[in-house]
Amino acid sequence: MVTRLGTHEETTMQMHDHRRLGRELGLFGTDPLIGAGLPYWLPDGATIRHTLEEYIRTAERRAGYQHVYSPVLGKRELYEISGHWSHYSDDMFPPMDLGGEQVVLRPSLCPHHAIIYRSRSHSYRELPLRMAEVGGMYRSEPSGVLGGLTRVRAIQLNDAHIFCTLEQVAEEAGGALAMIRQAYRDLGIVPAHYRLSLPGPGGKYVAAPELWERATALLTEVLDAAGVEYEAAEGEAAFYGPKIDVQIADPAGRESTLSTVQVDFHQPERFDLHYIGADGGRHRPVMVHRSIIGSVERAVAHLIERHGGAFPAWLAPTQVAVLPVSGDELPQAEDLVRRCAEHGLRAEVAAPEDGSLGARVRAARLVPYQAVIGAREAAAGQVALRLRDGRRLPALPAAEAVTRIRARVDARGTGLWHEDAPEGDPSPASRG
Ligand SMILES: [Zn+2]
Repeated sequence: MVTRLGTHEETTMQMHDHRRLGRELGLFGTDPLIGAGLPYWLPDGATIRHTLEEYIRTAERRAGYQHVYSPVLGKRELYEISGHWSHYSDDMFPPMDLGGEQVVLRPSLCPHHAIIYRSRSHSYRELPLRMAEVGGMYRSEPSGVLGGLTRVRAIQLNDAHIFCTLEQVAEEAGGALAMIRQAYRDLGIVPAHYRLSLPGPGGKYVAAPELWERATALLTEVLDAAGVEYEAAEGEAAFYGPKIDVQIADPAGRESTLSTVQVDFHQPERFDLHYIGADGGRHRPVMVHRSIIGSVERAVAHLIERHGGAFPAWLAPTQVAVLPVSGDELPQAEDLVRRCAEHGLRAEVAAPEDGSLGARVRAARLVPYQAVIGAREAAAGQVALRLRDGRRLPALPAAEAVTRIRARVDARGTGLWHEDAPEGDPSPASRG
């Protein structure tokens, strides 16, 4: 799509460039000495990332996932078995020679999870077995395309593999799609569209036409059951199977895949995975690969751009800015920060020496809640709350303000106060 952007769009694009905002907000950075495509996270960026990862782990635990850790390296042979070596080596780092062995930075977590599954025997009663990990993987992106958090060489992936029977695939894939939609509501992300990614011409796909057809039929069933509109795209499948991709768009309209659900008959075969069925015999499980928010890097880049740095309250690095009108109210301000911390809220004092009240309000414009304490509020044990969107609330007892902010933060989504309408289902945006 070639469109000449008007001045307004250009300005909006610059405003929402995650690289510029990331630098200004002190979220992440890069250094030539560490290397291109290898960003580091500053404290506020690390807070966002940690909060996001914990959110995902909590959602996964509730949905019956078990978490594992696996190493970011593996022997070359592991990826030869998985098929990555023959289908994906262009994107892999060259192997390292180590005492007569070749070791590779992993291009995906799947082979490790298959090996963990295989490490002990499983009964059909254990299925579906849902194995999750937020783990590192590596991609040898050419230096010319690297930038910010969207094209990186070191990736933290929110990944999971569900080992299940063929009969369980549709429900498990549907459950993963429901988790993705809930996460998008909580994060204020609107998908550009849903895509059914199919193989295309060329040799990068494993050959097994019958299995491709069966997997495609299952994913189509899942999309139809969810009632979402989608488009089929040839040449976008993983080398081992078709997938549902949830596409997002950056402010310039460039699309990328954030979340994905895949059905895979190939790797269970390659790793000779099995479970003991009710009949006492050995059966082959299916692997459903799924990622709710994709890579942490891409998710945070998108959140920065989507919200222009005004993150949903539950994700904001600082959730409450406490502004004493003068130095006289500093003790009450510090007391409120302590009270917030006790309730698990991230609060900071913006002290009078940082500037006039107006200047401090402006400096804290991306903070969801500003608690102003003047002489009157201090005397009454109250705070006057200002919301990031400009609303001002009548003075509240400090304890009540903290409880109500805590409740709104726990409700997630992008609303700032309890009477805000719950966010609707982010069905694909109608882009005009
Ligand atoms: Zn996988």
